[in-house]
Amino acid sequence: MPSYIVTVSGEIPLRSSRTRPRFYRRLIENIRDAVSREGGKVIEAEIVESKIYLRTDKEVAPAISRVFGVHRVGTVLTYEFRDLSDLAKWAAENSRDLVAGKTFAVRVKRSGNHPFTSLDVAREVGTLLKPYSRGVDLESPEVKVELEVRGERVFLYRNLVEGPGGLPIGVEGRGIVLFSGGFDSPIAAWLIAKRGVQVDFLHFILGSSWASYLAFKVASKLSSEWLYGYRPRFIVVDFRRIVEEIVKKIEWSMRQVVLRALMYKTAMMVAELKGYDAIITGESIGQASSQTLKNIEAIEAVLKPTKPILRPLVGFDKEEIIALSRKIGLYELSAKVPEACAIAPSRVETKASPEELSRELDKLDPELVNQTVNSLIDLDLLESRPEDVIPGSDLEIEFLPENALVVDARNWRGIEDNALPGSIPLSKFNPEEIPKDKTIVVVCENGSISLIVAGLLREKGLKAYSLKNGLVGLKSSDSLSALKGEAFGCNSNRGE
Ligand code: ATP
Ligand code: MG
Repeated sequence: MPSYIVTVSGEIPLRSSRTRPRFYRRLIENIRDAVSREGGKVIEAEIVESKIYLRTDKEVAPAISRVFGVHRVGTVLTYEFRDLSDLAKWAAENSRDLVAGKTFAVRVKRSGNHPFTSLDVAREVGTLLKPYSRGVDLESPEVKVELEVRGERVFLYRNLVEGPGGLPIGVEGRGIVLFSGGFDSPIAAWLIAKRGVQVDFLHFILGSSWASYLAFKVASKLSSEWLYGYRPRFIVVDFRRIVEEIVKKIEWSMRQVVLRALMYKTAMMVAELKGYDAIITGESIGQASSQTLKNIEAIEAVLKPTKPILRPLVGFDKEEIIALSRKIGLYELSAKVPEACAIAPSRVETKASPEELSRELDKLDPELVNQTVNSLIDLDLLESRPEDVIPGSDLEIEFLPENALVVDARNWRGIEDNALPGSIPLSKFNPEEIPKDKTIVVVCENGSISLIVAGLLREKGLKAYSLKNGLVGLKSSDSLSALKGEAFGCNSNRGE
């Protein structure tokens, strides 16, 4: 059974005696959750001199190394020694494989009374290991053999890997992240979660549900790999009517600022409704023309936020954000998320005044935001599917979800010989045999017949959609399975 040692972030042991036990308790709970998501179990957890010793029923170091509050994690072997030479022999035998063909250094910590020093231990073990290695290098070894002598026991730490540091999620309250899934907002979420805040996600559908489908996938990866100790939620608010209203009533230059103001307003309502302590965004000063200090000032002056708005990326360059995105494993997915269609392609106001913003906001129907919030969808990220973000009222869809069943309605009069590979021809499709929660996408040449068919299937209680605009964009060489979960038609990816 594997045993692990976890060293915790340096700041945790320094907390007051009142706070410390709570932080350790939460950290251990989060580690238990990380292990259980890997299908394992923590059998024993013990705090010894600020470190956590764990026994688990399977190998789980990679998962533990992604728990916030963990400084380092490694496997640990332990032995009750008789004397220095016995200790050194055991340590060398158990680390020979680590140093093979590499330069190494032995590092020793010692507590208790012994007739030898830490340096004596390092020297003895080093001498025994040297013949198996490429030599000792105390300055920058390829491998460190780390030993701790405590009383009559010696501990050997192997394969130590760095954790993310930070504080255990849950010790600092709850926050809601305005989440688009692009490069910025996931990093903002990660950084705030790293400070112990339990984060959930708030996503606005601004245009194509394809962007929202991908945003869910980014949040889902972030949650399952980094957010432990709770079940993160993905709240979806359909903003398309608001975007339409803005385009109809607001002049070009103010549209971005008005949209942002309404996003904040909605976030504040959601925060009040669901008890969040803070709102988090991926804004960085000057990154987009709407994200100027003046615009932020105008929005806050008009809205008077009732919750703190946290912007952990304010001082980050795009390069730094992208490097972090790669490091935490979200780059590939975030790169696919299309930029929201610009509602104001040029001449964006960079110095909105509160009066001007207030005047523009007054042009909009005040009930619109309330109605929008009332119809929010609140999903469990670990359980839901990305297509669950699509509002139930949408009958058309712009892409093929990965696990959708495709029904080819082109030859609906019964000629089924050349149905698309990977699809079922409509004539062979039996609605009675399909589970009610299976996602079905009906396709035809231009999206008209498929719309009728999808409507009929909805009446039978099935989760059916019609592929918008049909297969006009499909090349004969495209295979359906390759198109699933990929951009379809005119949606383009964001590059770097
Ligand atoms: P990102 O990389 O996070 O998409 P961005 O550089 O594209 O950010 P903007 O599109 O101006 O910048 O968005 C700034 C911030 O506004 C985002 O980081 C996010 O917090 C929030 N935001 C933008 N679009 C949405 C959306 N569709 N749903 C929820 N929040 C959003
Ligand atoms: Mg964006």
